[in-house]
Amino acid sequence: LGRKIQHIDFYRNDLRDRIPKDELLNVLKGQSISHVFRRSKYILIQSRIGFAIIHLGMTGNLTYHTCGTPQRPHTHVVFKVKDATGKISYLHYTDPRRFGRMAFHLGPDWQNHPLLKTLGVEPLETSRLDDHLYHHTRLKSRKIKTIIMDNHTLVGVGNIYACEALFKASINPFKLADSLSRSQCARLASSIQETLKQAIAAGGTTIKDFRTTDGNPGYFAISLQVYGRANQPCLRCGHAITAQVLGGRNTFFCHFCQK
Ligand SMILES: [Zn+2]
Repeated sequence: LGRKIQHIDFYRNDLRDRIPKDELLNVLKGQSISHVFRRSKYILIQSRIGFAIIHLGMTGNLTYHTCGTPQRPHTHVVFKVKDATGKISYLHYTDPRRFGRMAFHLGPDWQNHPLLKTLGVEPLETSRLDDHLYHHTRLKSRKIKTIIMDNHTLVGVGNIYACEALFKASINPFKLADSLSRSQCARLASSIQETLKQAIAAGGTTIKDFRTTDGNPGYFAISLQVYGRANQPCLRCGHAITAQVLGGRNTFFCHFCQK
């Protein structure tokens, strides 16, 4: 915060989409960074003009370097950053698979950006997630796992965390959403929050490409109770864990204790 973006070097024209180079330069070049925050998987970097919006995709990462030339293969964008003492550092965006994304927004109302305006609630910033789930599951004859993984309902729950939260709440992933009772919604809401908090505390449940901003790999410390444990005994009742595809994703659950 407070550092100034002096320049941005782009080494390609596109990631998942075209990189809006001129617009990003307009928003950031010569500007001080007033705020950096996250909404869903988007990182927002605010200047007086507007926002740079960065999504890391599957394999993207941002790392600081003292050198402006790309240090690792697949470095696509380099931000030259100057702090208050005049010291220069470089923020490198690296992304081998290029599913990441860079976008921009002019003005303060970032909530209206097309990528952001239809996003559901943040599960850890919603005081009544149980009510939210209850209302969003009424009249929905979709499977509950599909609903909690739907970014329009809530964000942050991918396949692994959906399996883990449903296991904790003893709810079958294939259960129809509108058949969940109020108390099941409450149990699921707290299971989702608990699962996410544990994962954050452990440093994330991560694929091999994750890097912290100093370039270190992420942790694998979170212990998964059901995900990836097909045919192994359920940690609660001892019956074999089932793996079944739902919505194209491998879904792990216990037939006996998830109803
Ligand atoms: Zn079980």
